[in-house]
Amino acid sequence: MKLKLIPALLFWALSFSLCAQDSALIRQIYDEALLRGNAYEDLRQLCKQIGPRLSGSAQAEMAVNWSYEKMNSYNFDRVTKQAITVPHWERGTTESGWFKSANGTLTKVHILALGGSIGTNGLLEGEVIEFKQLSDLQKAKSKDIAGKIVFLNQAMDAAQIQTFKAYGACYAIRGNGAVEAGKLGAKAVLIRSLGLPQDEHPHTGSMHYDNGVDKIPAAALATNDANALSAALQKGKVQFYLEMDCRAFADAPSFNVMAELKGSKFPDQIITIGGHLDSWDTGEGAHDDGAGVIHCLEALRILKILGYQPTHTIRVVFFMNEENGNQGGQQYAKWVLANQEKHIAALESDRGGFAPRGFNLDGPDNFLALLQSFEPALRPYDLHIFEKGYGGVDIGPLKTTYPGIPLFGFVPDSQRYFDYHHAPSDVFEAVNKRELELGAAAIASFIYLLDQSMQP
Ligand SMILES: [Zn+2]
Repeated sequence: MKLKLIPALLFWALSFSLCAQDSALIRQIYDEALLRGNAYEDLRQLCKQIGPRLSGSAQAEMAVNWSYEKMNSYNFDRVTKQAITVPHWERGTTESGWFKSANGTLTKVHILALGGSIGTNGLLEGEVIEFKQLSDLQKAKSKDIAGKIVFLNQAMDAAQIQTFKAYGACYAIRGNGAVEAGKLGAKAVLIRSLGLPQDEHPHTGSMHYDNGVDKIPAAALATNDANALSAALQKGKVQFYLEMDCRAFADAPSFNVMAELKGSKFPDQIITIGGHLDSWDTGEGAHDDGAGVIHCLEALRILKILGYQPTHTIRVVFFMNEENGNQGGQQYAKWVLANQEKHIAALESDRGGFAPRGFNLDGPDNFLALLQSFEPALRPYDLHIFEKGYGGVDIGPLKTTYPGIPLFGFVPDSQRYFDYHHAPSDVFEAVNKRELELGAAAIASFIYLLDQSMQP
């Protein structure tokens, strides 16, 4: 391996050439993950013994304790918790929706309140008005919307090969729908679930309110129900009935949980790898993001058990509150600065536990050459994506603390992610054991290559 540092420009210059020793170590990493791995059992415990773990909930606290004990059981060099403050919102116990078609037929639908929504304060009723795009709602007049229930029926584009692009194009109906409908005097907003399949699973997710705009309840309909509601609207006026008792509470104390392998040559230089421990309150947060935290935990366990002594300190962080506030990521970035830590890179896994495809770089172009120089080492393991892209929500704030830091995003296959994302179907059984193990091995190998490369 070869690497040159250009201190005058303050960045690493960057190429990595594979030697036989590297190839052998990577083979050992994969053997450990596939033949003696703990990832699947650890994910089972997180999903089945604890389950969903929304910030501020009792389960989130249990997940913090489980993580801390699990990390300690692997005898890492340092296991710590960082105290943070998180939002606390609860879905409540009542959550129902029906619509009455022009011919009087009543249809019950599958709904989930969007995270952060206010409740309906009893049964809320109104005539439905449908929009296929958020931009169409933005052009509407308040006289046509006031007192009605806005239905945003924008479907994810199934023609997109990378499903995250289809998600990104629809994201605003969930995030901004309540504000846009509220501005025009709507009583409530319903959105078509952000999911690709046509099924009965509604998908929740975060939304926001703006100061100065009346807050209105917001809920997601399962895609089949969105289709049925749209079909009913083709035939005449439709009345919708909604009841939800979700609400926000005072902010709550919580923790990021972390473990380290100390660097042998550069112990003060830190590479953070992680995912988020919190999840939505439906399903078990298996792909989102149980898989991501377990990937990183297992990667560190494998490096330790193989006796690998990293040159830099490798720190795994289980971030809290990615889903509805990103307080874990933001407060971590402040904490590392307050501690005067030196961070040289970070990696996040938050795109599910599916078959690994490669890694994205979110950072300066000079690191792209480094990323691409890893390809010969990882290509035999079916990894082929080594390109610029997105890092992750939790590690994102490190960009401000350390301008120029390279952030890497683990990229698994995305085709099935939006079958499960934020839905009751995101359970342990939806994760394939072998695919999860391959993800952990890919991340352990990547961290090994990064640790070897980033030195003068
Ligand atoms: Zn996530």
